[in-house]
Amino acid sequence: MLKVAKFGGSSLADAAQFRRVKDIVTADPARMCVVVSAAGKRSKKDNKITDLLYLTHAHINYGVSPEDIFSLIEQRYYEIRDELGLTYDLESEFARLRTELNRDISIDYLVSRGEYLTARLMSEYLNYAFIDAADCVFFSYDGQLDYNKTYAAIAQKALKTPRFVMPGFYGALPNGHIRVMTRGGSDITGAIVANALDADIYENWTDVSGILMADPKVVKNPRPIAAITYQELRELSYMGASVLHEESILPVKEKNIPLNIRNTNSPGDAGTMIMETIDESSAPARMITGIAGRRSFTVLTIYQKHISTDTRIIRKTLEMLEACKVEVEHITLGVDSFNVVIPTAQVRDRIYDIIADIKHQLQPDRIKMDDNIALIACVGRHMASVPGSSARLFGALGEKNINIRMIAQGSEEISIIVGVDNKDFEQTIRTLYDGFMNREE
Ligand code: ASP
Repeated sequence: MLKVAKFGGSSLADAAQFRRVKDIVTADPARMCVVVSAAGKRSKKDNKITDLLYLTHAHINYGVSPEDIFSLIEQRYYEIRDELGLTYDLESEFARLRTELNRDISIDYLVSRGEYLTARLMSEYLNYAFIDAADCVFFSYDGQLDYNKTYAAIAQKALKTPRFVMPGFYGALPNGHIRVMTRGGSDITGAIVANALDADIYENWTDVSGILMADPKVVKNPRPIAAITYQELRELSYMGASVLHEESILPVKEKNIPLNIRNTNSPGDAGTMIMETIDESSAPARMITGIAGRRSFTVLTIYQKHISTDTRIIRKTLEMLEACKVEVEHITLGVDSFNVVIPTAQVRDRIYDIIADIKHQLQPDRIKMDDNIALIACVGRHMASVPGSSARLFGALGEKNINIRMIAQGSEEISIIVGVDNKDFEQTIRTLYDGFMNREE
């Protein structure tokens, strides 16, 4: 049995969190590979090391002394090391970095030191080998991960030192220079290690006991999701539920490795298990797995007689939006009209130009624009097979007098998306949650 355990920033924020991590790792000998983020926030008002490193670089860029911020970073690491009685030579690391700060240091290299130093301390603390991501996570010059080369290198390294700690979030370009991933990228590193070593499970340790069925800022005490498929998670994250870095799914999905979200501060909780398929005999079959949504969309309705038989105008409209680099979230088609749903933020300053262009170039019968639309997705793998699920959903909204402005179905019938006025966003989520959950008690 081999488990890859990735710990996020809040799980590594101070010496006390390092102790929790050690307890978790040593509690199960299968936890052989540990991937770490940079130390995160100790409290709501605190700063993440990664943010401080970015800020250090910005100071240098603008010719402002980074001294104050940089010493905050140093302080954080010294505190962890000294409190845990470790001996890692941080003094030399920081002395070297300070010299480089004055010599046009690359932003990626500087920022990657957050993960690097956290991993150095954790490797000493756990007495696990240190494997540098710069030696086995590879990017091509266009910034794409070279998965095959990376998998082979990690497998090779792990042969010599099967118990190791690796910093997440960065790797190396073909010339050896450090390249960081997008924010939250340690999730990807953990998934890559799990794939490379054919792990039995990829544990992603964070500060919540799994994914919740709805945003706790909207629904009071939403239930945690015990099990969810990759596909469902994708639909939920796309609609705004942020739990994992999107790109971390692919490497584990490819090998059908279950991904378990766990809480470092409450290790007894089972968390959420994310899998390709779920053995339903062990879990109660709920109709809805989760509800998520986003506000502020603009809906363009383009009217043209017999549009469904002459689709040229649809293609042309989409081409025009593509040329303006506007993302299209949804398209729905009627007999004499079609709707395109786009994020308002992407067209705020130019929507009237876009409408004028469509009018001028395509000469539709009419165009209508609605903004302040929120989209809410009800996601559930059982919805496709259970008759009446949409009736229940619309019935619940009807009872609360919520006006549905738009309806769409997601891929493979596992989600139903409703468009409502922005002002009804929270009430819609609460109504759907109550409508499904309370009747399933
Ligand atoms: N430390 C990086 C960030 O804050 C990467 C990570 O935590 O995964 O985004």
